[in-house]
Amino acid sequence: MINCTNCNIAFSPSFATCPRCKSFETPPAIRNRYLTQDAKNRISDGQPSSDVRDYLIANGFSDADADALVGDAASGLRSETRGYGFRRFIVGVLMLTLAGLFAAVLQSGARVRGSGFAIGFMILAGGGLLAAFSGVYTMLSGRESKLVGKILDQTDRFNT
Ligand SMILES: [Zn+2]
Repeated sequence: MINCTNCNIAFSPSFATCPRCKSFETPPAIRNRYLTQDAKNRISDGQPSSDVRDYLIANGFSDADADALVGDAASGLRSETRGYGFRRFIVGVLMLTLAGLFAAVLQSGARVRGSGFAIGFMILAGGGLLAAFSGVYTMLSGRESKLVGKILDQTDRFNT
């Protein structure tokens, strides 16, 4: 928060000037830090780079500074997303390996309670394939596939 020395009120650095008197200016360093963080948040929220670039330029950034900031934020987000994709791929491979073991047990004709094993196999095989393929997609593209994004949204909502 910033204190306006004219009105003696605190205001957020999202304002370029004090919202009451409009004459007290947010110190440039604080305003810049706010805009930089806000631009990064917008990129991770999925706003198009070109929109965020326009937003920065409208708020006084030079073209070159806006390009650099947006480019860095976008590539940071991509490599973070690739990391998630890699972990999901590994989980998928482990699930498929386990599904293979289940299948081997089922085929061996061992006396297992068949239906539970068969259902377990299907869940592991289906989930493993989804995780492995979407993981590879995300690793290569740096983006979440829409389907997996929806599933992750659902689990987020479930967890919170
Ligand atoms: Zn003021």
